[in-house]
Amino acid sequence: MVHNVMEEMVSHMLDDLFALRYDGCACEVCKGDIMAIALNHLPPHYSARPVGNAYIKAQLFSEQYKADVMRELLRAAAIVKKNRLHA
Ligand SMILES: [Zn+2]
Repeated sequence: MVHNVMEEMVSHMLDDLFALRYDGCACEVCKGDIMAIALNHLPPHYSARPVGNAYIKAQLFSEQYKADVMRELLRAAAIVKKNRLHA
């Protein structure tokens, strides 16, 4: 069984984004759309261990990775905000 650690990372950072600087809709639908768009632009990162593993965490939560993920999340959030896909 493998985990896509990038998915956990994106989910984690999306919460940060919403807490800090997102003024669009933050419902589960929009959240899912933002995650999907961002993940389609980021390379998957598979691990046989969950993200809680210290080694994986140190590797993934480097500043470069965080910058890449946040850039894609901001881009995805802007798209979803402009084209809200639900009523
Ligand atoms: Zn919404």
